[in-house]
Order: sequence, then C-alpha cells, then structure tokens
Amino acid sequence: MDLHPIRTPPTADEIAAVEGVLREHAAPGRPEASRHLLLPALHALQARVGWISPGGLGEACRRLRVPPAEGYGVASFYAWFSLKERPRRVVHVCDDLACRARGAEGLCSTLEASIGPPGEARGSTTWLRSPCLGLCDQAPAALLQQAGSVPHEALWSADERSVAEVLAGGAPPPRPPAVIDAPGAPARGLLRRVGRVDPTRLAAYRAAGGYDALRRALELGPEAVIAEVNASRLQGRGGAAFPTGRKWAAVRSQPAQPRWLVCNADESEPGTFKDRVLMEGDPFALIEAMTIAAYAAGCARGVIYLRAEYPLALARLEGALRQTRDAGLLGHNILDAGLSFDIELRRGAGAYICGEETALLESIEGFRGEPRSKPPFPVETGLFGQPTLINNVETLMNVPEIVLHGGAAFAAQGTPGSTGTRLFCLCGQVQRPGLIEAPFGVRLGELITRAGGVEGGRGVGAVLLGGAAGTFVGPEQLDLPLTFEDTRRVGATLGSGVVLVLDDTVDLMPYLQRIAAFFRDESCGQCTPCRVGTVRQEELLARLVRNRPLDGVAQERALLRELGQCMRDASICGLGQTASSAIESALALQRQGGAP
Ligand code: SF4
Repeated sequence: MDLHPIRTPPTADEIAAVEGVLREHAAPGRPEASRHLLLPALHALQARVGWISPGGLGEACRRLRVPPAEGYGVASFYAWFSLKERPRRVVHVCDDLACRARGAEGLCSTLEASIGPPGEARGSTTWLRSPCLGLCDQAPAALLQQAGSVPHEALWSADERSVAEVLAGGAPPPRPPAVIDAPGAPARGLLRRVGRVDPTRLAAYRAAGGYDALRRALELGPEAVIAEVNASRLQGRGGAAFPTGRKWAAVRSQPAQPRWLVCNADESEPGTFKDRVLMEGDPFALIEAMTIAAYAAGCARGVIYLRAEYPLALARLEGALRQTRDAGLLGHNILDAGLSFDIELRRGAGAYICGEETALLESIEGFRGEPRSKPPFPVETGLFGQPTLINNVETLMNVPEIVLHGGAAFAAQGTPGSTGTRLFCLCGQVQRPGLIEAPFGVRLGELITRAGGVEGGRGVGAVLLGGAAGTFVGPEQLDLPLTFEDTRRVGATLGSGVVLVLDDTVDLMPYLQRIAAFFRDESCGQCTPCRVGTVRQEELLARLVRNRPLDGVAQERALLRELGQCMRDASICGLGQTASSAIESALALQRQGGAP
C-alpha cells in the first residue's frame, strides 16, 4: 500500500457514488477490487459532487484497492475530472480550430467581459475554455456539465445569450439535427439511416433492414465474413488505414481466450465529428457491426470506449444496448446461432491521447492513458493481456454493407488503393459545415463546393486535412483527389476525415499557436522528445508571433524543422510523431506564398 493514505473522510454523496458503480458492475466471479472500475468510479464522483475531493478519491481507492498515489495519478491525468473544488454547474466553451474559425475567440472575449474570466466562480456556476468538443458542424460549441444526484450534460451550438442563460440555470437550447449533405439521398452508404430512421427504437432499425447483415454473416460463417472484408479492401478509418480484414484474421488466429473487441469511439481529433453523428443517428448499426466483427474474429466480449464529451451519443448507445440485450441480440446464443457476445460502454475522460489504441486499453484497465510500446500489438496482447481487435466507429459501420452486398461491390466504389466511401467533416469557414459522404477520389474543391463554398464568397486560403495531427494544403490543391495514396503523394494525410477550410484573409498564426498549445497539453509526457518538444514548439511560435526570433527567422524555422524531425524519429506514438506536421506544413505554405 501507499505510504500516505488519504485520511479525509468521504461524504455520504461520495460513498453513494462509488457504491453505485460497484453495484452496477457486480457480477458473479467478479471481484470488487477491480482496478478497471477506477475510471467509472471517478466519473461517478465527478458527476455527483462536481469534483474529485481527497475524501472521494480515497473512498474509490479504498473500495477498489488502488494505492491512493496511483489513484491520484489517474484522476489528475484526465481533463474531465477536477481535483480542485469548483462550482457544480460548468459550461465549457470550445476555442479550438473549427470554433475559432466561426467566432469562438469573440464569444470568449464577450463572456470574459460580461461574466468574468474563465474559471472564476459565480455562485454555483463557472465557465471554462475547452479544446475541441466535437460539434464542429455547429460551431462555436459549448458543453454543460451539471453535477448532482441527477447530473446533466448537454452539447449545443453556443452564442453569448445561450451561455449566459445556461449559466443562470436555464436549459441549453435544443440542438438541430446534424447537417449532412443531401440528407436522405443515398440509398446505401453509412448515412443512409441518419435522420430518417428513429435512432431510439430497435423496431424502427429492424424495419429499415437492421440485423439482416448479422443473419447473413451467420449464414456465411466467420471465415467467409473475413474473406468478404478482405475482398472489400476496407482500410481503417481512424487514420492509420490498416487493412481491416487482416486485423480480424490476426485476432481470429490467436489461440488465447477470451478475445476482446474494442470499438474506439474516442474521436477527439480537432475538427472531427463524424463518429458522433453516426452514434447519435444510427446507434443500433454500431452494435450490429460489432456483433458481426466479434463473430468473425471470435471475440466473446466487447467494449465501446466513448469520448466523454458526447452525452447524446452516450444516452443513445445506452438505450440501444438495453434494447438489443432485451431482444436477445446481445448475450448468450444470439439468434439461436450459438453466438455469445456482449458489449460494455466505457466513457473516456477528456484525454486526446486515449484515441491511440494502446493508451485506450490502458484507460479501460484503469490506468493513465499512456501508450504502450509496440510490439506486442493488441491483436496478440491487448486488453487485460488478451488478443484484442480494435476498430473505430466508421470502420465498423462499413461492415454490415460489406456483408450484405459483398466485398467486391464495396471495392467497386472509390479507387483501387482506397475503396468505398469516406465521411468528410467539412468545417471552418464554409457556408454549410456538415458531414459529407463521398467515394474516395472526390476532389477537395468539389467537397468545398458541396459545403456551399467559402463563407462570404471569399477564396480558399488554406485547408487543414486530417485535423491537428494533419497537414495544411493551399488552394493549389483543390483538384487533389482525396484518397490515401493521393494525399500521401503530396505529403498530406486524410487522417480522421477533417476538411477544415480557412479563407484567404485569415492569419494562420493564431491557429498554429492553438495547435501547438493543444499538443503541449495533450502529450502524455511519457517520452522526452514529445514532452519537451511540444513545449519548445509552442515557445518558438510565440517568439515568431511576437517578432522576437532568437537568432533570426530563418534560424527559428530551421529549429522548428529539427524539433519536428526529432519528435517524428524518437516519440513512442503518433501524437509526438505528428505534433509538428500541421505547423510545419503551414509555414512551408507561407514560404511559398500560398497561404495567408
Ligand atoms: Fe506520450 Fe507523446 Fe510519447 Fe505519445 S509521443 S507516448 S503522447 S509523450
């Protein structure tokens, strides 16, 4: 045990919060002292009392038999948890890239003037600046976090009035449906049910063809399902573009049992909101897709790791899991086919790094979200040391269509190197921010046109492809076909599908500073090149903005490139390896005179 036990007693509310988690997860053969319940217990404390007090942390650690120092290490890692007492009603206002492009800085300045600085308590309320909240299609975004015995959270499209009203105790205004390009038009594709089929009723999902794909998969058998996924040449949509069928086959070939299936629903790349739209609008499809994946790869248990900032997706998925379980579509002997599979929903806690697959596994197990060194890869040694298949939401949601219509039909869309369709998150300074589904190979300029063009009829200044970890391209790339291979050819990436458009009057430097601050904040600190490099990068940009370069601008630019190279070469995970990509690409564009 730790040498410094916490002696502050918990309050009755804190005891009840931890007790509730233990009761909810009680199962025969499942010891109470399960480290993996630490995050759910911290969530319960945060939701009940609005912060993690020493007494509350001590109670969670005592019940879960976690050394208090380790418990503190975990609680302090995640931005969702506050270790300082703060008001119970908090509004988080996004000031990240997409919101900044749509007036978030102005909104924050107005709030500072009218309400007070962020973090300053006004009675039982306060407001805070926040990194991306995943509502980039309706930017600027805000999130309410209301603690209490009946906690409440909501995400909405914010303005000064609505933030003031919510801080005064009012309800956030209802959020309009997600803007999707040509709603209702595609008969097939990932968005075919979003906005057309009631996402809260299993009966509606089944009436719209839901669970036909699982039945078909059971007829085909697991090997044939994997063969179809291989034939589709589906590549992971999370950024790494790994062939999905190969991953499934690798998990299936592992002798160890049980095998786990983990759905990475922690989308937190600034500018990305596609998985939110899918989970809010078609949650049963994700569950069906996971059931097919579990059947093919031989996984008995599944976890959806959902980012904390998506309360509506959380509610929809909870409801969908309940209904599918009640209908016998999760649990034992699904559809009388001898298939047993169930899914747990786990909530992330505001750490971008947990989108990295091994950091995500650490987080589920109750640790700080620090990436593991690879190998071994999760397909061999993943969750709780067992073989684990990890796919993100968009990747999995392609599976029912592949099973129903065949891998070859899927591969006929897009290009030979990038098959199928892709969800593109159009955000920033376009007339109609929203989600566009298009076959791979669509031109960048066509997507911008489909989003109504640049606001105010201005020209394109720069486009950030792939989010903060992505790359800026200039208007000379409007003809670029958006495929894995074409973006790679020009030194860019599709990443998570972000297409953040900035007009030709925008000063890029504040955006670059926001990106640098983001990576400095989000680095897990485990390896020196990333921990120190992200700080030095931010400092260097500040010197350039203040026009106070150390040894001249050329030297600073060379130093920035050197820092980027060092982080790419020597960081453990993708965060450090890509922390300078967008910044370096923007400065290169400016040098070529191709960016504002
Ligand atoms: Fe952590 Fe950065 Fe190293 Fe990744 S690269 S493990 S985020 S310190």
